[in-house]
Amino acid sequence: MKHVYGFAENVAETHDERKSILGGKGASLNEMTALGFPVPSGFTITTEVCQQFNRSHNYPEGLKQQVESALTRLESATGKRFGDAKNPLLVSVRSGAAISMPGMMDTVLNIGLNAKTLLGLTRADHERFGWDAYRRLVQMFGNVVGGIDHARFQDALEQLKSERGVSADADLNQGDLKELTLRFEALFVAELGQAFPQDPEQQLWAAIDAVFRSWHTPRAVTYRKINAISRDVLGTAVNVQAMVFGNQGETSASGVAFTRDPATGQRKERGEYLPNAQGEDVVAGLRTPEALDALQQTMPAVYAQLQDVLERLERHFRVVQDVEFTVEEGTLYLLQTRAAKLSATAAVRVAVDMAQEGLITQSEALLRVQPRQLAQLMHPSFDPQHPETVLAAGLGASPGAASGRVAFEAAQAERWAEQGKDVILVRQETSPDDIGGMQAAQGLLTSRGGFTSHAAIVARAMGKPCVSGCEALHVDAKAQQLSVGDVVVQAGEWLSIDGGTGEVFRGQRPLVPAQLDACAHTLLSWADGVRRLGVRANADTPHEARLAKALGAEGIGLARTEHMFFAQERMALFQQVIVTRETSQSASLLQRLGRFQQQDFEGLLEAMDGLPVVIRLLDPPLHEFLPKTASELERLAQTLHLSEATLGQRVAALQEFNPMLGHRGCRLGVTHPQIYEMQVEAIARATVRLQAAGKVPQPRIMIPLIGDGREMQFMRHLVSRALQRVLEDASTAIKIGTMIEVPRACVCAEAIATHAEFFSFGTNDLTQMTFGFSRDDAAKFLPAYKDNGLLPQDPFQQLDQEGVGQLMALAVERGRQGRAGLGLGLCGEHGGDAASVTFCHQVGLDYVSASPYRVPLARLTAAQAALSPSGESTP
Ligand code: PEP
Ligand code: MG
Repeated sequence: MKHVYGFAENVAETHDERKSILGGKGASLNEMTALGFPVPSGFTITTEVCQQFNRSHNYPEGLKQQVESALTRLESATGKRFGDAKNPLLVSVRSGAAISMPGMMDTVLNIGLNAKTLLGLTRADHERFGWDAYRRLVQMFGNVVGGIDHARFQDALEQLKSERGVSADADLNQGDLKELTLRFEALFVAELGQAFPQDPEQQLWAAIDAVFRSWHTPRAVTYRKINAISRDVLGTAVNVQAMVFGNQGETSASGVAFTRDPATGQRKERGEYLPNAQGEDVVAGLRTPEALDALQQTMPAVYAQLQDVLERLERHFRVVQDVEFTVEEGTLYLLQTRAAKLSATAAVRVAVDMAQEGLITQSEALLRVQPRQLAQLMHPSFDPQHPETVLAAGLGASPGAASGRVAFEAAQAERWAEQGKDVILVRQETSPDDIGGMQAAQGLLTSRGGFTSHAAIVARAMGKPCVSGCEALHVDAKAQQLSVGDVVVQAGEWLSIDGGTGEVFRGQRPLVPAQLDACAHTLLSWADGVRRLGVRANADTPHEARLAKALGAEGIGLARTEHMFFAQERMALFQQVIVTRETSQSASLLQRLGRFQQQDFEGLLEAMDGLPVVIRLLDPPLHEFLPKTASELERLAQTLHLSEATLGQRVAALQEFNPMLGHRGCRLGVTHPQIYEMQVEAIARATVRLQAAGKVPQPRIMIPLIGDGREMQFMRHLVSRALQRVLEDASTAIKIGTMIEVPRACVCAEAIATHAEFFSFGTNDLTQMTFGFSRDDAAKFLPAYKDNGLLPQDPFQQLDQEGVGQLMALAVERGRQGRAGLGLGLCGEHGGDAASVTFCHQVGLDYVSASPYRVPLARLTAAQAALSPSGESTP
């Protein structure tokens, strides 16, 4: 069995096969050698050896001999001999797994150096370099093989520098480095009770052992866990490579280069290097490296060669490469190449550019950008140049970063915003009354509530950063302060929130702005050409509708009409409607409210002219709209000429024990048909008016919370009659459909579909009711569920495919039995989550509807689902 491959040997047909046998680094060294790039010779011990070594602590039979013969071949390729006093071969021993785990495993450089070979390495004019190489070997070997704390060596180095009165390593002369090596060797003996091994063979095998073992270092284990790298992935390979030295004087250097800018994606190589240094110095950041452009001045021939190499590497691998190089006395060597990690902006730009350059196809470009990178592009973020300590962390409920002065009340937030101040509205939880303050604030922070809490939904729709469910936060609005442990923040003080990570910071943090650039628009237009799944937006105002359209929404999948009542004047009117509902006053109040609603619908339909606009009739329980404080109650009583006691009784009568399962949704339509009739008539009037103005309004009417066929039939009659009262022209057929939010609706979907032209899955409520988890309280226990491995994800963020998803699949199947051509969509918050969107494609929905800022993510995800082989829809 073959365990060792020379870089020049042919290993396998495909890059992926090579990677699984040789690890990423070994595969790229092998490929670069085959393509004739200047790679120092070497060989790779396979990942399978690591697996066996980790299992049995033994090497497979024949490995020693295979390594020995590979070493002999390496000697003849380099013309040097391992352990030779005159012309010694030195090697690096480096890790490299099949999946990139940068910096997680170990490396030892300069193996083969000892008191004897040092003489051969250091020519008369290079003695300093020899001692520098030797002290590095003792240091790395002591740390990686012997487990001596890195800081011990660093302390000894600092000590010597202070004794010599110098600040930079480079200021230590040859005698100093010799002294340092002796001190390192003494440290080695003191720590390990044995001398630093002089036998090159022994050094080599100890280093190979240590690199294989480093597969299990805690940081490597944690890295695999965080990145969900399966345990089945083979271990690391070990690469043994002839050393080249970037620390041989001013014509030598070590550096790192990217084939394109990994931050911006610009098509220009970017990197940095250190003259007279070994590679680790660049990474360690002890000396500030020079930008690659400077190499053009100092070593023009090397620079030109490097440019050529970078271009060829990228053309070969077809992804941006991150390349390590060394210049040894004017000769360029490549030590490694791998796929570069790109920022979101760069990922999009590179994908589009490479497709336009003909390097990859448009489909490949679409598959290369991660949907969450598009979400990242949409929001400003904190400037990483100015890091801060985290004060508390909650749920990252609406992405983006914001800084502002803390306001504990909506009205205060509005006042301060009018004065031109940036505000973060901090509440225990928000209520519809807070809408003005939310609109005025830069961002929202709540100590309670989950991903689908009111604050979170409204914030996402507004594109405002929001951290919700930050339970560590004690909000005391009365005292106008919040506290986290001992830290107290008063109203008016600065606070910063990151709605992507859920982190909260004290003070003001500088932001870097972001928006969809031309490349993102191009990529998304390609996505539109590929996807089958439609993408609409959840939007309640013309402003949101226009924003959503600009981001590519093909209509509105959910307009929550209750949000239209939040404005001050309407709220007062609606409160009057609610408390006077059984009196003669109510009809004229409703008429007034109907006029407002008509304006709202005209605005929405006009903004989405020609595209479907799904308008949902009133959903929340009425008590949510009623006065909460004594002064609000007093004001309303005066307006209505009622005694406070009478009003108090009416308000109390509307209180419920369990409002989420109470008097809401279509149940309101059954008990208070006049409210729904008012809304339907307003939709019809808005339609007629726009048609008369030459527009093409496409409203759809959606009933919330249906759970039964007869309920739907009742609602359909109510809506149809109201429509007929306004629409003389029968050709204006407005579709009537329902949300599917109650588990029973999924089971009874066939009967419901006979009376509904479309279904839209309200997966916020469907998740709430399927799990029996209150969407507003789940933040209290979901983290513990995740920590204990009881739930892989927050089901309010990522659709629970095992449970809720199966109910959806059942509803799709039964709904289609009830009506051929039934429209099928989703309008819960899951419409903006990539895994959930993929599921919607697979289960055969027609569209998803997401908050405006998540529309681009949904467009890309839908395209990826259509392109992936497992993404075939299952009708
Ligand atoms: C839902 O329940 O998924 C939904 C969209 O409705 P809401 O969030 O308004 O309850
Ligand atoms: Mg709902």
